[in-house]
Amino acid sequence: MIDDVETNRVILRTRLASAYYSVLLAENGLQGLEIAAREEPDVILLDVLMPELDGFEVCRRLKADARLAHIPVVMITALNSPEERLRGLEVGADDFLSRPLRDVALLARVRNLLRSKLMFDELRLRDRTSRGLGLGTTLAEGDALLAGGAGSVIFVSDPPEEARDWADKMARRLGVRTRCCADGAQVMALVGSEPPDAIVISQNLGRGAACGAGGSPDGIPDGRQLLAALRSHPETRQAAILFAVNGDDAEFAAQVLDLGANDYFHVPPDPAELAARLRAQLRRKLVSDGLRSSLRDGLRLSMVDPLTGLFNRRYALHHLDSILTRARETGRGFATMMLDLDSFKAVNDRYGHAAGDAVLRQFAERLRQTVRGEDLVARLGGEEFFVAMPDVDARIAAQVAERMRVAVESTPFLVEGLPEGLPVTVSIGVCVGSSPAPAGVEELMRRADAALYASKHGGRNMVTVVADAA
Ligand code: GH3
Ligand code: MG
Ligand code: MG
Repeated sequence: MIDDVETNRVILRTRLASAYYSVLLAENGLQGLEIAAREEPDVILLDVLMPELDGFEVCRRLKADARLAHIPVVMITALNSPEERLRGLEVGADDFLSRPLRDVALLARVRNLLRSKLMFDELRLRDRTSRGLGLGTTLAEGDALLAGGAGSVIFVSDPPEEARDWADKMARRLGVRTRCCADGAQVMALVGSEPPDAIVISQNLGRGAACGAGGSPDGIPDGRQLLAALRSHPETRQAAILFAVNGDDAEFAAQVLDLGANDYFHVPPDPAELAARLRAQLRRKLVSDGLRSSLRDGLRLSMVDPLTGLFNRRYALHHLDSILTRARETGRGFATMMLDLDSFKAVNDRYGHAAGDAVLRQFAERLRQTVRGEDLVARLGGEEFFVAMPDVDARIAAQVAERMRVAVESTPFLVEGLPEGLPVTVSIGVCVGSSPAPAGVEELMRRADAALYASKHGGRNMVTVVADAA
């Protein structure tokens, strides 16, 4: 909480403390920046009018610092000052409260910002662990994504002309793609076809034709049902939701925030302010998407071997376990294969490591082309590979292994500087599971490995088949 007036600080601290928040106080902008950098608080409440560094400058500096940019900032402005709000949004403030501060509005806003910050923190933390980097994210990243044409928004209001009006203005100001609806059912249909990044919901839904021009009687949807539905829908759970609130209804606004809206504005909106609010929400949404997809990349990396794109050992063992479980249920046969390139060390020694890598990649590709879709191909490490095939008997497993051996031997591998190509061979060990109670994963791998060893001993470039039970 940054405010130069002592009574303001004391009052706000008392209110927040009574809701069990712990509050740090700063009496000027510089001190506020210092405390923010040291303590990394969850929310910053920032007075606009302060000597020396004013609230705008403090906010601008916070949002430019990658380590602090994700901390939500609520600016506290004079009552009814659209200019101040707009300037605040432009420097990246997340919301405004005007004096005199009302408890419902204050606490609902803080709760809401805390919730979205915690979610964002979680993403940043997991992203950091998976990438091993300590990078933060700034507003600039989100702006770059927006400028690059990302961002689609659905507007819903009754009458639909209102939604159309807002959509046109926002399309002009932000360059986002817009779609409009007159009711919740249309929104849900659109969401299914192409999920939006943001949705702007008007409190005026389900009135109009349905129940005349009067107020919203009980049971008539007023946008809150739609809000709840969107929050629990998998395609829109992460979308930014802005709510258009009629008049100055602080209670309703607080309720909407608690239901999961990210922000609200009053109708009729000042287009500049709505654009700034929408931009802030889209920025956050797009940056979170980026974090989430880098998490997916992290997940992919934990399963896939980067050199060949095949599954790695960890995934292979896990997958083999589920093949075994299924085989026990169906009683059908299956096979595991170990493959090891012959005299591969010599390839590296003679032609270099890069040539060795090229051979490994081509070998992986040939394996992939020899198996069916339901078969698993993995690189266990080095020049050792593994194939698991559900629903095969000994005869078919032996045929597939022989086809693989031939696929390697018959065509020389492409290696730079060797126009005639490089002849390579592979040794293969196959273990066929057909007994009613097949051995466990470890034992199957061990048996396939023993079969491979037999192939190596037998002179290499050959296939050996064993059964899973002696
Ligand atoms: P064998 O026929 O008995 O299997 O002989 P080998 O030379 O293939 O077996 P060995 O285990 O002695 O050598 C394996 C070699 O594989 C050693 C290492 O240089 C090479 N190797 C392991 N991983 C990689 C890799 O990722 N890239 C490259 N280029 N070579 C690798
Ligand atoms: Mg080898
Ligand atoms: Mg080896």
